[in-house]
Amino acid sequence: MPSSSLYLFRNDLRINDNPALFAASQSGQPLILLFIMDDTDENWKIGRASQWWLHQSLQVLNNDIQKQGGSLIVRRGETLKILDEIINKAEVNKLFISRAYEPSQKLIEENIYAKWHQQIEIKRYGGYLLFEPEHIRTGSDQPYKVFTPFWKTCLKQLEPRLTKQRTLEAITFSKVKIRHDNLNDWGLLPTKPDWAAGLRDNWQPGEAGADKALHEFLQTGLKNYNEDRNRPDRIGTSRLSPHLHFGEISPVRIWQEVKQYTNTHEDHRDGLVSFLRELGWRDFSTHLLFNWPDIATKPFRPEYRNFPWKKNNKTLTAWQKGLTGFPIVDAGMRELWHTGWMHNRVRMIVASFLVKHLLIHWHEGEQWFWDTLVDADLANNAASWQWVAGSGADAAPYFRVFNPILQGKKFDPDGDYVKHWIPEIRQVPTKFIHEPWLMTANETGLVCDYPLPIIEHEVGRKTALDAYKKFKENH
Ligand SMILES: Cc1cc2nc3c(=O)[nH]c(=O)nc-3n(C[C@H](O)[C@H](O)[C@H](O)COP(=O)(O)OP(=O)(O)OC[C@H]3O[C@@H](n4cnc5c(N)ncnc54)[C@H](O)[C@@H]3O)c2cc1C
Repeated sequence: MPSSSLYLFRNDLRINDNPALFAASQSGQPLILLFIMDDTDENWKIGRASQWWLHQSLQVLNNDIQKQGGSLIVRRGETLKILDEIINKAEVNKLFISRAYEPSQKLIEENIYAKWHQQIEIKRYGGYLLFEPEHIRTGSDQPYKVFTPFWKTCLKQLEPRLTKQRTLEAITFSKVKIRHDNLNDWGLLPTKPDWAAGLRDNWQPGEAGADKALHEFLQTGLKNYNEDRNRPDRIGTSRLSPHLHFGEISPVRIWQEVKQYTNTHEDHRDGLVSFLRELGWRDFSTHLLFNWPDIATKPFRPEYRNFPWKKNNKTLTAWQKGLTGFPIVDAGMRELWHTGWMHNRVRMIVASFLVKHLLIHWHEGEQWFWDTLVDADLANNAASWQWVAGSGADAAPYFRVFNPILQGKKFDPDGDYVKHWIPEIRQVPTKFIHEPWLMTANETGLVCDYPLPIIEHEVGRKTALDAYKKFKENH
């Protein structure tokens, strides 16, 4: 039996612009393509919306590979045990993987290396980020804690380059019979009840879906991205986040295609600059997680361990269900529940409402997002929650409290977004749409079946500022 090469898919579920897969395809040996769902680590098991996505994405990837004469082996269990079995059975002497940055994934990489580096060739490649963490350091060789200088340094680097590969056709796939699971047995799809209809209606997981999202964005979103990215009532952003998280498209490819498109569409330049900056925030969050692996569980600024958070299941449930009485908050939470995604501006508003008006610990929000977002990403989620809570690197100061009424009026001026997600207020006149409680006392005579605010904005703001003052005094 000839020796084989093994490609271990992780958060790089794509064929195109995948440097590690490209290298594997050039190894000159029969190739095995493997995905392992290793959920043996109890911390941060993937959430339910992400499970739905993963199932679809693996199915699409397998179909794409089958069309090119191969197949994807999927296994669930402990990575080292499964690799051990396959490496021995198929006489694997070369292993290819893409690099990952989450603590549990880093550990898996270290364990693989420790166990096999003397027997087989192990090759690890980037592909998840634009810039590797080791290359973006301050003048004193420290990781950056502040985004702007981080991004300036990134922009001074050599442009990230594409690894073009659109087909696996030239590859010889291994014929060795290897045990594989049936994806349907993993139970990743909800059945009783099947709550995934909104996900199915809104998303096309997989590489082709990612391509489509990118091309739609180039044609309709990029030009006005600078302004529209703040408008939840418009389709102004790319919605590439779940595709990026699962690696169905590479950030390098997005970077290159967006730049190329702008070369022939000069008036898209402002959009280009802000859009690349947002991709930069994704790199920044991952660099933070890489350098400070605790950020998902501990405040980046240690003094925030003593912040006087409150426990309140009633208000937490109202927030989760989109029943706080503030339309922009409730619309966001309902959009999340229905589609597995929420607009970035609204994420900031709902997060601020939870940690400031309700004084509930950001962990609660982080975990709820983790379970319900199709783009749930340890780095982006943790860094963003800490940013809003004021405890993160380069965070918004805690005393800056978003006013959900003014945010609604500014970014959803006609109320189209809130009306879409909250049918109870569709009849409310636009002038009251972000504060419908004022309407009952008004001439319109309309009454709607929508809760009164669970806390008055001014009371929430004062609660937050008082808590912050007390916290500062104690430090
Ligand atoms: C409280 C909170 C939690 C969040 N949790 C997540 C999460 O779990 N996963 C996640 O991918 N994003 C998270 N974000 C960041 C951001 O909201 C989403 O990345 C964005 O809304 C995705 O939509 P898009 O693809 O249309 O973005 P676009 O505006 O089209 O941006 C393009 C890409 O850039 C990246 N990006 C954009 N904004 C940010 C940002 N602020 N921080 C980091 N990367 C960014 C994303 O990968 C995104 O797909 C969170 C933000 C907040 C405020």
